[in-house]
Amino acid sequence: MIPVTCPTCFEEFEVQAPHITEVPCTYDYDCEICCRPMFINFWEEDDEIIAHAQGLAD
Ligand SMILES: [Zn+2]
Repeated sequence: MIPVTCPTCFEEFEVQAPHITEVPCTYDYDCEICCRPMFINFWEEDDEIIAHAQGLAD
């Protein structure tokens, strides 16, 4: 699980990481706190998966 910060409510929650062979990739996701939609971009850095959430309006 990877922590991400919601771009709408700024609360942190955890998402299931994709397998390292599947990154970079983008998921559609609804915030677990405020239920607003977002995109989560995943990429690999030094054999670790990094996640960053982006609001749909960005
Ligand atoms: Zn939220």
